[in-house]
Amino acid sequence: MDVFQKCQEYELAESLRRAGLYNYFRSIESAQDPVVTIDGRRVVMLGSNNYLGLANHPEVKQAAIRAIERYGTGCAGSRLLNGTLDLHVELEDRLASFMQREAALTFATGFQVNLGVLSCLLGRQDVVFLDSLDHACIIDGARLGFAKMVKFKHNDMADLERKLALTADDVGKLIVVDGVFSMEGDVCKLPDLVRLKRQYGARLMVDDAHGLGVLGKHGRGTAEHFGLDADVDLIMGTFSKSLAAAGGFIAGDRYIVDFIRHHARAQIFSAAPPPALAAAVLAALDIVIREPERRAQLWENTRYMQHELESLGFDTGGSETPVIPMVVGDDRTVFSMVSRLHEDGVFVNPVITPAVPPGRAMIRTSYMATHSRAHLDEALDALKRIGREAGVIH
Ligand code: PMP
Repeated sequence: MDVFQKCQEYELAESLRRAGLYNYFRSIESAQDPVVTIDGRRVVMLGSNNYLGLANHPEVKQAAIRAIERYGTGCAGSRLLNGTLDLHVELEDRLASFMQREAALTFATGFQVNLGVLSCLLGRQDVVFLDSLDHACIIDGARLGFAKMVKFKHNDMADLERKLALTADDVGKLIVVDGVFSMEGDVCKLPDLVRLKRQYGARLMVDDAHGLGVLGKHGRGTAEHFGLDADVDLIMGTFSKSLAAAGGFIAGDRYIVDFIRHHARAQIFSAAPPPALAAAVLAALDIVIREPERRAQLWENTRYMQHELESLGFDTGGSETPVIPMVVGDDRTVFSMVSRLHEDGVFVNPVITPAVPPGRAMIRTSYMATHSRAHLDEALDALKRIGREAGVIH
């Protein structure tokens, strides 16, 4: 048996390429703005996580440029040893104060936050409870730990309670959920999660990659949205969405963050976020705080699209946020609609198993504060035409 046999047998990508339906790794020739350039053509972008439109903001870019001029391009080492800059310390202090937590710790990617945090916290005596739609990096982080992993049905609090009740009292319990689920765009049931965590003596961690900057009066995310900041033990955030860069952080009580700082292998054995990114996030955070009107505009765009897509007859699942899926069902129809939309100048993302359960293939759209009504209407025209062509709406 050859380890590469599976690669030889893998044919989905090639068959999609042959059919002209391959829409991954599309190469964009411009910034992540509401309109991007692909193959020299103008395409309305409905597939970016640049929720507040800060990824191409002049102030954020200037901050990154200044940081490169002062610190160079890379940190050449891990935070633990030579890679910590005063910029990282400032960023962590600012994040902790923004999130109203005692401490925050940055990682090179959001994915690594969950790998590092979960693998170092979950010991043999612990049980981790995961929503079945939790992000891949939560699952992978839990797999790297030694705890028993228990999955509960998506957002099904009765199922979670049943599983908590079956677990011995004297083991450590951690519930981990996405604040905003990344494909379906629905929100976790935080009040119930907090009730259950108290009742069963568990701890609670929320991955707020898609909630940060989006939910809550000040943009602190899902916990702020529900007025439950103090009840979530750990909040994970990324810099790759509202915060305009790449990287991520964990925020919580100082003693927990300090343990993570000295035990999370994904942080200790990986190079620090480059200076340009740390500076860009600091500048983006200033704008998140200073310009709440961006969040208001994002929500106006979201409500408009939710209403218009539903009026056209699309099934937007349980979306409550700027992530709005259109459930199509089978993978092939999704691929062909995404290709047709691309040809007609609209960028959307195909989502198939394993990112969603089988039979629930969808087109994922996401919105920015900087989309104008004209951009959205242009996309809606194409969605209406192509949705009808595909028989997904009538
Ligand atoms: N958590 C969630 C819920 C995500 O959607 C993502 C990325 N899409 C991540 C974590 C990983 O973050 P990053 O892309 O910043 O590594």
